[in-house]
Amino acid sequence: MSYIKQRAHMVREIEAEVRSTSRWIGKSTLEKHVIQAMGSVPRHEFVPADMVRLAYQNEPLPIGFGQTISQPYIVALMTDLLELHEDNVVLEVGTGCGYQTAVLSELVKQVYTIEMIRQLGEQARERLVRLGYNNIEFRIGDGYGGWPEHAPFDAIIVAAAAQSIPEQLLAQLKPGGRMAIPVGTLRGGQTLMGLRKDEQGLVHSREILPVAFVPLTGGH
Ligand code: SAH
Repeated sequence: MSYIKQRAHMVREIEAEVRSTSRWIGKSTLEKHVIQAMGSVPRHEFVPADMVRLAYQNEPLPIGFGQTISQPYIVALMTDLLELHEDNVVLEVGTGCGYQTAVLSELVKQVYTIEMIRQLGEQARERLVRLGYNNIEFRIGDGYGGWPEHAPFDAIIVAAAAQSIPEQLLAQLKPGGRMAIPVGTLRGGQTLMGLRKDEQGLVHSREILPVAFVPLTGGH
């Protein structure tokens, strides 16, 4: 099957999982532009060479260094939670292989992404540049404290589970800004949280779904 067909199949699987989890997530379809981005980013370019045949399964996959590329459904759901607009500036903590970064890149004006593991961050940068994504700035280091030089952000996405929501990240969200972050521990259970800072600066949070992410390191 061609990659285009495999990707179309993956999108249908994501849509089916959205419907079957609609009670948790509070909706039965995701924003159309999110689905379009999922249908256009070549996921097979982001997985290790020996995993290419699994690239369009709706499953997480190992990317080395004990890290994983998130499940496509989770990438789509978290992107949807960010309620992105094309003029938005977004911060991503945990570049990993850069797949989520590419999805964001298709939807907003500028993406800032931070990865703690040098090799992963550098590989992701090379890959995204080679694929022509040109609205991304990369940083290697601890993203726990965000990227104050480019704050505030319209949206922040964290790809690893924090024990609690880092205050520094909340502080870097614009009024009206959105954040998606898994909170908790693998053993005690993690919850994907969707947050919104209102125009007065008050943060409202919503528990979305039980999830399993690698831990957010640093900062604590
Ligand atoms: N969206 C990525 C997810 C990778 S897994 C993908 O689909 O590939 C989470 C990533 O977060 C890992 O690469 C890990 O190294 C990184 N990470 C964990 N804690 C971090 C921190 N404090 N700062 C930056 N990156 C971090």
